[in-house]
Amino acid sequence: MANNPLLQKKPLLEFNKILPKHFKPALVTILKTNRIAIKKLLLQKNFTWDNFVEPLEAINNHLTFIWSAICHLNAVMGNEKNRDSYTKCLPLITKYIADISQNSKIYEAFRSITKNKEYKLLDSVQKRILSNELRDFILAGVALPTREKRQFTKLKQRLAKISNKFSYNVIDSSQNYLIELTKEQTQGLPEYALALGQANARKKNKTGWIFSLDYPSYNALITFADSRSLRKKIYIAYVTRASDFNSFNKKWDNTKIIEEILKIRSKLAKLLSFKNYAEYSLATKMAKTPKQVLDFLHDLTKRALPAGKKDLAELKQFAKKHGIKKIEPWDLVYYEEKLSKEKFKLSQEDLRPYFPEPQVLKGVFNIAKLLYGITFKEKKNIPVWHQDVRFFEVYDQERNLRGQLYLDLYYRENKRGGAWMDECQTRQCLKNGCIQLPIAHLVCNFSPPMGNKPALLTHQEVLTLLHEFGHSLQHVLTKVDYISASGIKGVPWDAIELPSQFMENWGWQKEGIKLLSKHYKTKVPLPKNLLQKLLASHTFHAATSILRQIEFSLIDFELHLKSKALTIEQCKKIVRKTQKQTRVTPVFKHARSLHTFSHIFAGGYAAGYYSYKWAEVLSADAFSKFEECGIFDLCTGRKFLHSILETGGSEDPMVLFKKFRGRMPKTDALLRHYGINKK
Ligand code: ZN
Repeated sequence: MANNPLLQKKPLLEFNKILPKHFKPALVTILKTNRIAIKKLLLQKNFTWDNFVEPLEAINNHLTFIWSAICHLNAVMGNEKNRDSYTKCLPLITKYIADISQNSKIYEAFRSITKNKEYKLLDSVQKRILSNELRDFILAGVALPTREKRQFTKLKQRLAKISNKFSYNVIDSSQNYLIELTKEQTQGLPEYALALGQANARKKNKTGWIFSLDYPSYNALITFADSRSLRKKIYIAYVTRASDFNSFNKKWDNTKIIEEILKIRSKLAKLLSFKNYAEYSLATKMAKTPKQVLDFLHDLTKRALPAGKKDLAELKQFAKKHGIKKIEPWDLVYYEEKLSKEKFKLSQEDLRPYFPEPQVLKGVFNIAKLLYGITFKEKKNIPVWHQDVRFFEVYDQERNLRGQLYLDLYYRENKRGGAWMDECQTRQCLKNGCIQLPIAHLVCNFSPPMGNKPALLTHQEVLTLLHEFGHSLQHVLTKVDYISASGIKGVPWDAIELPSQFMENWGWQKEGIKLLSKHYKTKVPLPKNLLQKLLASHTFHAATSILRQIEFSLIDFELHLKSKALTIEQCKKIVRKTQKQTRVTPVFKHARSLHTFSHIFAGGYAAGYYSYKWAEVLSADAFSKFEECGIFDLCTGRKFLHSILETGGSEDPMVLFKKFRGRMPKTDALLRHYGINKK
């Protein structure tokens, strides 16, 4: 045990030394220690913040530190051994969480603190934490009779297990599908895509070009491959991953898992006397009722539909000119790229050389410096889990170290797809007055550098980096001293995407792009003509993309709105019904988009995918203040830092928003950014 790197008390974990065999023993040890410590805490007579909440936070803090490292390694280095060890940990951690969150003694201790004399002396953040705690205990089933409590825990354990399997199925069905291209099939592929295919082939000791269904691979083919039959093949393979559609996928079919997850969620909600899981989900969110969410989404649909129809008509006409009588789902991205190229004289590939990753990162840091006065300093020789990972310290204007950041930007095998920010350690003020610094993981899946060329990002990838960077800033710049409300903790899920989507805006501003771009050979920033074309393309087919997000949001919400669990056939009906309301583009009848919808089946977005659009109203409106005052306006930047980033979950997000904006949020800015008319 003494040699288990997960249990070493060092400021930073020695990630390079953590092996799969360390996961379970470390977890078992910490869980045991925590159980004993909590038992001891409960022996006290009069509970106060100082003698109960604070030590309990410290106990949880230690566990979270270890558990988040295990989860992180499972996500970024998910080889078979890591997966096995992680899977073995799952029932232990879920059982522990259930035991604690359903422990009526702990619940009563919290309650007694809200009733004793000293309660009045607590500050508003402490009061908010207590009120959230009491709510979360109820939502975890603390008030249930013993038998139901046990049932609740079992359901939660099962849910954790199958959600994890769902995620593995998506990764495996994407990475195991390989397609070898003939020379002819490579037609249309840009240089970076050819290099990607060749690199994949080399890894398999082959020559030629090999692609999988990982996003960088898929995206290259669906956007650029001139061969329509190849696009059709790769499209169908992609949208039917992890499903019952063909025998290739059988091993990774998520059908049964989807049905079971929905069934479990419905049972959990019922046990707690909610009508359905959607209502349960909203109990912790800004939106209060399902009707509020549905009205919001339907209203957006109504506004976006006319523009979406126009988008499609334009695309159809363009495709027709190129001999396509009937546009199919596998033609959409391809002709959109071609149309955009013709319309704006701009291909996304023309932009790539101007966005080498080192410059983009430098630009992102510079933007943060101008807005919030913070600087990033790289520290070498920090133990990390992979050689590509980098580590930074974050300093504020007064040169105080505010937090730290691990950066893991490149795609590799066994790494979960997509991009995200995760907490490695959360800020808190320790008993001795010292500050435990916040540490963030920022993870992306960009194509790695090839040969001696740096990684060249698409503009979309620049936006992705800005997005995750925004999440990271909220985590590392927090000034809240209590762990339960610091960083992104305590922020309702539908407000979480505010700082992230907010940061993306700088990727669409002349002054922002100037900082983010520099041709990797000529060293000049994006020239004026390309910049103008890029900016002109901002609202290009934006309605189509907004409608897609709404479609996902509505499907997710409706799946969780029924009081009875649904069969896969009933789910498909909901998908079809929603598509009728929101889709303007053609639909592939056999697409199985639910089978890879990891956000809601393997992430935290169940009955909450609407959060992206919900929070975008806030982020767009917050950004419009910068449009009014100047996008690097010092005063506005600092105001955003103080009222949103530093305060996080310490206050109701609407109160914080009003503090920054001086009024309630309006949807005008969001619609304007998408080029959609108000009425
Ligand atoms: Zn996000």
